[in-house]
Amino acid sequence: MRAHHIGIAGAGLLGRLAAWVLASQGHRVEVFDPAPGPAPLFNGQGAAGFTAAGMLSPVAERESADAALAELGWRSIALWEGLSATLHAQGWVQQAPECPLFTGLGSLLVAHGPDLGAARRVLTRLDDGTLAPARQPSPLTREALQGLEPELHGSSGPLHAWMLPGEAHIDTVRTLNALHAAATATGQVQWHWGQAVQSVAPGAVHTPRGRYAFDTALDLRGAGARPACAVRGVRGELVWLHAPGVRLSRPVRLLHPRHRVYIVPRAGDRILVGASEIETEDRSPMSLRSAVELMAAAHSVLPALAEARIERLDVNLRPALPDHHPEVHHAPGLLRINGLYRHGWLLAPALLERALHDQALAPHGLLS
Ligand SMILES: Cc1cc2nc3c(=O)[nH]c(=O)nc-3n(C[C@H](O)[C@H](O)[C@H](O)COP(=O)(O)OP(=O)(O)OC[C@H]3O[C@@H](n4cnc5c(N)ncnc54)[C@H](O)[C@@H]3O)c2cc1C
Repeated sequence: MRAHHIGIAGAGLLGRLAAWVLASQGHRVEVFDPAPGPAPLFNGQGAAGFTAAGMLSPVAERESADAALAELGWRSIALWEGLSATLHAQGWVQQAPECPLFTGLGSLLVAHGPDLGAARRVLTRLDDGTLAPARQPSPLTREALQGLEPELHGSSGPLHAWMLPGEAHIDTVRTLNALHAAATATGQVQWHWGQAVQSVAPGAVHTPRGRYAFDTALDLRGAGARPACAVRGVRGELVWLHAPGVRLSRPVRLLHPRHRVYIVPRAGDRILVGASEIETEDRSPMSLRSAVELMAAAHSVLPALAEARIERLDVNLRPALPDHHPEVHHAPGLLRINGLYRHGWLLAPALLERALHDQALAPHGLLS
């Protein structure tokens, strides 16, 4: 395959992954992003990929994603497992290298006793009869739940719980940092930080500093891609807790009639509690209501969080298209991917693998 000169607008989740895999294929890559540098900003302005909890949940997300997206999700889980092993093996995981980026221990759904009816209705929506037996939510006895996650207890009595086998989670911040380090180390990537792209055209990226010409331009700007596509930002808020001594091995989602709250373990005794979903592009700090609801719900199933310290209240925008489906647009010299919404980590590698192949930039099965 001929080596191309490729311009990428956006150094978020898709942009960094694309930069690494394309540079590893021998292409020469230039990446443009308004951020001042590669580090996360945590001020509501940077890539949504940094804010994300990193749940890889093809089944739990069936409430808002169809079977085709779930299949991409299963493919991505397999790809992330391999990609994260490569990032580790090549030494690009510089923060907490002893902790895995990818953890594939399944995830849990839990419900308080009085909410069993509402939880069963959600379970019906998650499994419409098409799930393979090995992927179906399986109910856990009280003893089985205690064996898996001994610190989960309901504030109003025992919890109902279901295991979602095969689901996984990934440490988003360390993975994005590692992707940047790996891409840089190829010697094939030039980063243009502090440069917002005004438009992306076939073979060209336009910034206030001028027009940059490429063989192919990739538009991966997420919520910043308007007016090139009809993307909108959907606000999400997430709490970072420092909780030394609190043991949690896998993501837990609370099925509650009013709130959708999840708790996700991270390296360094961190636990994330998320996330609100609000139809606004407001990037201002987290509201009191969201903070109270998220933390009260998390504490109601994981009481050991009582002494956790609140480290950060993070906010960002999920890039969503009107139908909540991702869009991949191909034209000669131009590839645009957007609309990953609340499933970016779940979809990115599988989506990118297919799109780069269809754009004739990479062989089939590139990321395997
Ligand atoms: C609170 C929250 C929780 C989430 N949890 C999960 C989860 O558990 N699992 C999951 O799969 N997904 C989750 N997501 C969704 C996931 O984060 C997004 O789908 C994903 O980040 C989208 O990837 P992207 O590369 O399209 O956009 P981003 O990661 O947002 O990257 C876009 C990049 O483009 C840059 N950019 C913007 N404008 C311009 C411009 N004019 N010029 C150049 N560059 C520009 C931005 O600075 C950014 O770096 C969550 C999102 C949020 C907000």
